[in-house]
Amino acid sequence: MRLTKFTDLGLRAVMRLAVAEENAPLATREVAEAMDVAYSHMTKVISRLQHLGVIEARRGRGGGLGLTRLGRQASVGWLVRELEGEGEVVECEGGQPCPLRGACRLRAALREAQEAFYSSLDPLTVSDLVASPTGPVLVGLVGRRPG
Ligand code: SF4
Repeated sequence: MRLTKFTDLGLRAVMRLAVAEENAPLATREVAEAMDVAYSHMTKVISRLQHLGVIEARRGRGGGLGLTRLGRQASVGWLVRELEGEGEVVECEGGQPCPLRGACRLRAALREAQEAFYSSLDPLTVSDLVASPTGPVLVGLVGRRPG
């Protein structure tokens, strides 16, 4: 099972925001730079995370992005499911549909395996992901490539 780049960036963003100081929210550009990814990619990811209610934009002086309570407590399995969408691990439909697609035991087995993968991530929360040693490393990434 391989996650999309979009999902990986989403997880990186929430991990970085999970270790941000409560009174020092980050700008999208800071998150992108800390994670060493293009700003344009990160804006799409941030937008999706906002839509999911995982992060919020705080306005005004000292404003920026922060994790919501849902974001902190969210199950990693749920978050990965949401970011990955409905896709299967094998493309059975698409431009050249597989002739077995209507009655394929392999397809059913792969769906079960995919669900087992997600389920294995369900007990984890975003907060779990930023426990040591990951959290301190994330904090140290702030402003690594100031733009
Ligand atoms: S053999 Fe089964 S799993 Fe593979 S593409 Fe065809 S329908 Fe999908």
